[in-house]
Amino acid sequence: MRQKEISLNIRPLKPVDDEDDDHHSSSVETPMRKDAFDLSDEEKIERIESHFRQIMETLGLDLTDDSLAGTPKRVAKMFVKEAFSGLNPKNKPVARLFENKYNYDQMLVEKDITFYSHCEHHFVPIYGKAHVAYFSSGKVIGLSKINRIVQYFAKRPQVQERLTVQIGKELERILQTQSIAVVMDANHMCVASRGVSDTNSKTGTAYFSGKFKDDDNVKREFLNYINAK
Ligand SMILES: [Zn+2]
Repeated sequence: MRQKEISLNIRPLKPVDDEDDDHHSSSVETPMRKDAFDLSDEEKIERIESHFRQIMETLGLDLTDDSLAGTPKRVAKMFVKEAFSGLNPKNKPVARLFENKYNYDQMLVEKDITFYSHCEHHFVPIYGKAHVAYFSSGKVIGLSKINRIVQYFAKRPQVQERLTVQIGKELERILQTQSIAVVMDANHMCVASRGVSDTNSKTGTAYFSGKFKDDDNVKREFLNYINAK
């Protein structure tokens, strides 16, 4: 999507028709193979290590050098256990719901949740802040759980629009509410460090459902809140 654009409604997702910089996605689900979890984490690390060694050697790097020798293994572990651990549903946070004892019926907002992800077109970092709000349906979850849900979906190769929608849909499901807002503000290293080399631009995406979508006052209250210092 274009930079410096805060889109307040996710536009219809278009099929990928271009191999380079057009960062749009074809589906809300991360495209996964049927055999995605046939291999164990350890088997995946072993394979990625050997492939990454070939990439480095192809680039002409000397892997007998002390500083480089451990890199293929390190990268493989990082991919499977950290950077892309959110591909595996077994790592999905389990959220326990609590009764909303105080009958609090206003919006709950958690802002400035830092996240780190990777652009699925270049495999370089996307990082930024997520702001989330919901109206309780009678149940609430611990605030740290919202944080974990954001991190879980961020730890995949992503496009920002899909990441935003995945977080919104999951929160609707867990909280059993139809009123969710997710706004994400991110820096894309593929824009900052290559291509147009614009280091200052940010990309904004939003997901609004229920009251946030239907009631402009509610949406404004949320946006004012997240824009307040
Ligand atoms: Zn990219």
